[in-house]
Amino acid sequence: MTTPATVPVPDPGPDTDALMWITARPDLVFVEGRGSWLTDHRGKRYLDFVQGWAVNCLGHCPPVVARALADQAQRLINPSPAFFNEPAARLARRLAEVSSFDRVFFANSGAEANEGAIKLARKWGRLHRGGAYEIITFENGFHGRTLATMSASGKPGWDRLFAPQVPGFPKARYNDLDSVEALIGPDTVAVMLEPVQGEAGVVPAEPGFLQALRDLTRQRGLLLIVDEVQTGVGRTGSLFAHQRAGIEPDVMTLGKGIGGGVPLAALLAREEICCFEAGDQGGTYNGNPLMAAAGLAVLGTVLAPGFLDAVVARGETLGRGLADLSDRLGLGGERGAGLLRALVLPDPMAPAVVEAARTLAPEGLLVNAPRPNLLRFMPALDLSEPEVDRMLVMLEEALRAVGGG
Ligand SMILES: *Cc1c(COP(=O)(O)O)cnc(C)c1O
Repeated sequence: MTTPATVPVPDPGPDTDALMWITARPDLVFVEGRGSWLTDHRGKRYLDFVQGWAVNCLGHCPPVVARALADQAQRLINPSPAFFNEPAARLARRLAEVSSFDRVFFANSGAEANEGAIKLARKWGRLHRGGAYEIITFENGFHGRTLATMSASGKPGWDRLFAPQVPGFPKARYNDLDSVEALIGPDTVAVMLEPVQGEAGVVPAEPGFLQALRDLTRQRGLLLIVDEVQTGVGRTGSLFAHQRAGIEPDVMTLGKGIGGGVPLAALLAREEICCFEAGDQGGTYNGNPLMAAAGLAVLGTVLAPGFLDAVVARGETLGRGLADLSDRLGLGGERGAGLLRALVLPDPMAPAVVEAARTLAPEGLLVNAPRPNLLRFMPALDLSEPEVDRMLVMLEEALRAVGGG
């Protein structure tokens, strides 16, 4: 018996059915990444302007991070958070040196770092503000997906999701100082915000607003907490986005970029605010040397001479290119800072553009749509000019494919 000629069937890829469903995902499995490029199980390549949600600040599998992880994995992975380890101590020292903060608590995700900031503020309020616990946060803000950080977030609908909420997070309007002042009461202990609202659609805080907020919180004896999980570690062209406004907050959280792709986050605070007592804060994996080694590799790279200048330059190229595309196709303009940028579309067509970009052939493009009428771009911070140009060409093709412009 002869074997019949087989018609090639599309490779179904690995079986993913045992994974818990949390969201619709495209029918592909990524198997490899390098720099700004990802490869799926069929061998198709994608130019990646999502980078694990702004996580891979040095692109996919940066050799400097891979080496740091491999070296550290052979020395010490986790002695337990009850003991000091060298990489965590060095990374904390380095972060304190390059910021206006004195001490660091390491966490495993942005949400966890923000939970830590909330706990620290509540503890400080108990000790120094007669039990004040309310933290003023902002409409459309995003601080994570734990119960407290969802409550702190101002995403429409999240106040009913998983109700009851954690109380104590009144919402002010972004870039509106009066709306903050109106919420301050005897129970207020802090104001917490993103220097650029990322998930809300890359909406920057005006420098004047941040400065006025710093003055106001100082006058009223409140803490100013900046959530730099998305904006920190060079994303906006300065090491931390709040530095662009020339302010010194009391507390800052980092996540995403600080680990270069691995789970690392941090809570930083000025000395006077650090008031945790034994047992208040901790976690099995917090400050483990393996992730800290990755953080050291990332920070060393981002702080190398010229790195942030290049981020600013690439950001300007990307911004100009998006503005030009918007003009030519009659779209709604672009905004952002450094390499955190957005293109505003005239209709709620962003999900269709994301799909069209990903399915371009022979190579796809990955972009993200945090809002139905808005595309977000958060490429590797060390991407090349040709990669920016290439993205713009592919994006135009995708926009035209869905009738944008
Ligand atoms: C992504 C993000 C978080 C949550 O970080 P996770 O690591 O996903 O928990 C918090 N705040 C901001 C501003 C973010 O962009």
